[in-house]
Amino acid sequence: MPLRIGIDLGGTKIEGIVLDSSSEAARLRVDTPRDDYGATLGAIVALVDALERQTGRGATIGIGIPGTISASTRLVKNANSAWLIGEPLQADLERRLERPVRVANDANCFAMSEATDGAGAGADVVFGVIAGTGVGGGIVVKGCIISGPNGIAGEWGHNPLPWPDREDNGRLCYCGKQGCIETFLSGPGLSADHERVTGVRLSPVQIVEAADRGTAAAEQTLLRYERRMARALASIINVLDPNVIVLGGGMSNVTRLYTNVPRAWGEFIFAAQRRTPEPIEPKTKLVPARHGAASGVRGAAWLWPDGP
Ligand SMILES: [Zn+2]
Repeated sequence: MPLRIGIDLGGTKIEGIVLDSSSEAARLRVDTPRDDYGATLGAIVALVDALERQTGRGATIGIGIPGTISASTRLVKNANSAWLIGEPLQADLERRLERPVRVANDANCFAMSEATDGAGAGADVVFGVIAGTGVGGGIVVKGCIISGPNGIAGEWGHNPLPWPDREDNGRLCYCGKQGCIETFLSGPGLSADHERVTGVRLSPVQIVEAADRGTAAAEQTLLRYERRMARALASIINVLDPNVIVLGGGMSNVTRLYTNVPRAWGEFIFAAQRRTPEPIEPKTKLVPARHGAASGVRGAAWLWPDGP
């Protein structure tokens, strides 16, 4: 059985693991040398060396990055870690590590992890959603990441919120557009919405705790959030019709979403509302990530599903 190394190249930390089948054989973490491409390469190579010294065996290497590799130029693009943009990351790592290296977007790695041995295992079509500081997504079909010719498949966070209510006046997004799903469904988006209505700034965790204590304003904020997530996911279901939607990121800890969102999305899923003798129940499941924060790094390791 081959060992698989997964590296999650984040804006503040680089995390590396070795998977032996589904179980973790080693794990290491270092600070990301921010704004220094050469040092970032060096840190990844040193991390791989250290992991292989721990296990005593060579391994395949997959890397998750906060961006994507351009299909035409093979250079990094769309990365929020700006010092990676325009760099030949994959080619440089392959030369330094003397073997082929697979690189994928971190949300795609999340979806791959959950589809392979996580909450979406066994499902044909998995849509992985990360709702945290931002909102991203990834699509895995029959064990393969669908990344697309533009490398943006699954990036639903920068579509506009569908079926808007009067209260959904579009806020400006960092991407330059207005009313993006991310501005509503990210953690900061939830806080901003609560503040807009109540004038009080609370973190997402504080909003959930207040709603649990029976505070009406916090409850209303979460109901708005759930209706928005239901509409946003209904538009995904209408296009992709996934078997499972796996939710990760900080917002995935809000357990009421798994009941309330599917309860609300039926109204927006095509034909679910038709007047037939038996109402059609949408079969898509909404579930929390099984591997939590480790899904990104595990999914990077699973970029080599069939070994070298
Ligand atoms: Zn946007």
